[in-house]
Parts: sequence; structure tokens; C-alpha cells
Amino acid sequence: MAVVLDPQLKRALADRIRFYNELGIYDFYRREPAELNRNIQDAEIQLEQREEMTPRTSAAARVSRQEDSFELATPELNVIDPVQALRLIREDLGDCTRCVLHKQGRKQIVFGVGNPKADLMFIGEAPGADEDQQGEPFVGRAGQLLNNMIKAMGLQREDVYIANIIKCRPPGNRTPEREECETCSPFLMRQIAAINPKAIVALGAVAAKTLLAINAPMSEFRGRWFDFRGTKLAVTYHPAFLLRDPRQKKETWKDLQMVMKELGLAIPAKGVE
Ligand code: URA
Repeated sequence: MAVVLDPQLKRALADRIRFYNELGIYDFYRREPAELNRNIQDAEIQLEQREEMTPRTSAAARVSRQEDSFELATPELNVIDPVQALRLIREDLGDCTRCVLHKQGRKQIVFGVGNPKADLMFIGEAPGADEDQQGEPFVGRAGQLLNNMIKAMGLQREDVYIANIIKCRPPGNRTPEREECETCSPFLMRQIAAINPKAIVALGAVAAKTLLAINAPMSEFRGRWFDFRGTKLAVTYHPAFLLRDPRQKKETWKDLQMVMKELGLAIPAKGVE
């Protein structure tokens, strides 16, 4: 019989699984369940199976395959001005109802924020409650930490562009479903094309896996450059993960230094606080 989990417990389990996923751990083993805990543990397994991510078609590959379709028409390609191009993309997005998230409690679309001519773009996973409330990515606690990361690089938040793989908050901050990412990411692809940054930093495993269509642990994503449709792409830990495990800030600083080197930015001695 299917077990109905208390939503709070379900969220806590999803958070824990996501924490391990960020560490690159995808396989979980159970101790022999005690009779008392059997129901909860069975439900946990169901959750784990759902959270385990199968390889996704890369966002870039999907867009190039579908480039001729009406839905993905990119009128802004003829527009030189990135400000105007982003405005066109936002207009196209409209009050989006393309995936289920529009009827699952999202308050508003969180399009992206920052310098339309940025050299550096950060891409996170999905808006959370604060972002959904304010209509801007990374404005909550994880956003504060992202701001610190940007400052440590000698930049201001206004210098870079920040967006997410998906533009609507998933209920309970669950991991975005593959279909949601596939429906939404073409708009992100258009944003990237309009901004044309010198480098992209994918924040966390979900962003990395969706953009690159590689099902690998963070250890294999970090510390190297990927080619993303001709743009350099690096991967580092998601700030929300760093809030849970601040010891990894040192590692993140290494990733950011690699990016700074690529962008010709001076590297200060102080890292991410
Ligand atoms: N986490 C994300 O991935 N994106 C946000 O905008 C906020 C938190």
C-alpha cells in the first residue's frame, strides 16, 4: 500500500538526499528495517528513487535540435542589444503555463537579474520561497552567500547575470523534474545567447547535469572547464549546500579562482566568507 508521508518529513528527506547528491553520493544502502520503521523507510526509498537523477538531454542539445520549431523561435537573434533581446525573451515567456509549476503555487516567474552585458553568468537550480516572493533569483540566505562569493571575486552583484535552470518555484523546494527543466531551459538558452558571457558558473549538481547532460558526481564536474555551445562553463557547489557544509567554501574558492583567472581578474588572498 502506498505510504502517504507527512509533508514536513518528506521535505526533510528530500533535503537530506539532495545534500548527499551534492556530495556526489547517489547510492544509498539500508540497514535491515525494524518493523516499526518499515513504512517510513519504504517511502524513503521511493523518494530516493525519484531523486536519483537519470542523465538528461543537455539543454544546449535540446535547443539546437528544436531550433526551427515555432515554440523556440528566437526573434532576438537579430537584435544586437542584449537589453532589448532579454526584453523580447521575457515577453515571449509571458505568464508562462507551459509546465505544471504554474498551478503548483508559484507566485511569479523569476526571470533573471543583472548586467545584460555581463562577462560572467551564474546559473542556479530553481527559485525558492524568497525568490518567488520577490521575483529575483538568489535573494534569500543562499543569495547572500552568492553575493559574498561574487564580492570575493572583486565583483558586484550588478556586474554579473544570475538566472536559474527553471523560472518557477517547485512546491516545497523539491528538485525540478526533468520535464520542467526541458520545458523551461530553452528560455535560459536564449538568455545565455543574448548575454553572451565569457564564462558561466553552474551552481550545484542540478544546474551542471541539466546544462551538460552528464550524470556525474560533483567531484567530476569541479576543477575543469566544459564547453557549453562555445562558452566556457565551470561548476561549483551550490550556495545552499555551502550553508549546510561551510567547510566546502575553501573548495568553492578554488573553483572561483579558476574562473577569475579565465576572466583576467586579480586574485585577492581572501576567499569566500
Ligand atoms: N537556489 C537556487 O538555485 N536559485 C535561487 O534563485 C535561489 C536558491
